[in-house]
Amino acid sequence: MLPDQRFIIHVDMDAFYASVEQRDRPELRGLPLIVGGLGPRGVVSTCSYEARRFGVHSAMPTAQARRLCPDGVYLRPDHARYEEVSERVFEVFHEVTPLVEGLSLDEAFLDVTGSLRLLGSIETIGRRIKDAIWERTQLHASVGMGPNKLLAKLASELSKPNGFHRIEAERAAQELAPLPVGRLWTVGKVTEQALHRLGIRTMGELAASDTARLASALGRQVAALQALARGEDDRRVEPAQAEQSIGAEHTYDVDITELALAEAWLLRHCERIAARARQRGLQGRTVTVKLREPPFVTHTRQAQLRAPSASAIDLYELARGLLNAWWKSQQRPRLRLLGVSLSGFAAERQQDLFDSSAERRVTDQVQDSINSRFGSGSLVRGGVLKTRQQD
Ligand SMILES: [Mg+2]
Repeated sequence: MLPDQRFIIHVDMDAFYASVEQRDRPELRGLPLIVGGLGPRGVVSTCSYEARRFGVHSAMPTAQARRLCPDGVYLRPDHARYEEVSERVFEVFHEVTPLVEGLSLDEAFLDVTGSLRLLGSIETIGRRIKDAIWERTQLHASVGMGPNKLLAKLASELSKPNGFHRIEAERAAQELAPLPVGRLWTVGKVTEQALHRLGIRTMGELAASDTARLASALGRQVAALQALARGEDDRRVEPAQAEQSIGAEHTYDVDITELALAEAWLLRHCERIAARARQRGLQGRTVTVKLREPPFVTHTRQAQLRAPSASAIDLYELARGLLNAWWKSQQRPRLRLLGVSLSGFAAERQQDLFDSSAERRVTDQVQDSINSRFGSGSLVRGGVLKTRQQD
């Protein structure tokens, strides 16, 4: 092994949200399933492979998906459940290397260079990850392997779904040559069109083009682009930093004009954030409320708790004060978006049952255990029910 040679794995769950739903609700298997926002401004988060045949894809407005696939099944995302599955998946990653860079709930880069001596070849490790994910979640992951991030990611994309593929450095140029230039992650629509105007459609054509000629049309970064088209990429896998903040927010189809409803949503957000903080063993001190007036004017208000906490009621009390102060300062308060986040984390305190907040923590714990048995949202505080009519 050369001293600077890296062994990188890219793992991406297949149609993640939709696959979790089809796993848990067998009646949805084999059907075109679209998970996303269902209101007039909703966007598709994920769709099943059956729905993709109709031309539906993620990030498409749900209204457009409904026109393409009127008989599809449309569901709102259940983030708490996807997060639970995500934790199982990331446990698998951390069993093979500490160098895990999560890109989303269901996608990560792993640098396994230091694991090869102990665990075997990159394919052995890749296979182990894929099998362990299947055993623990009954979901398929696509696994791509390569000497850098670019090739590992292309390898998983090219072999999806249920993929398993390695692109070795020596074969990179050959495998990449026929692929469209748009597949390079730095090439957006504008660059793609500029390349097309120059008659360059594939990575092979890009790699073989004269740099000086390209530079006059596209600028000097074009040499870096050509390096990518040859499969060269020296970005490192950056392991996750400690989480900076945990937040929840919602954009409303109908603007909120009633304070009681805004407060109910605030409580619901606080419960979600507090549960996620407790799952991760975190307590935060800074509460930030995000308020967006239509169409796009966003305000934030921030305050500190007296002591770090992961209690929904502690967060809510502070957040509600911030919301109320803003509300009173407005002539005609209207909210298009309302969000809350918790930051300023410290490690969790030892339980102190004589602490005045002990009772609150017990309520939170009961809620966590009921939600984990019966599904998130089974037990919510009364105030949150008000938000259910809208969601
Ligand atoms: Mg995915």
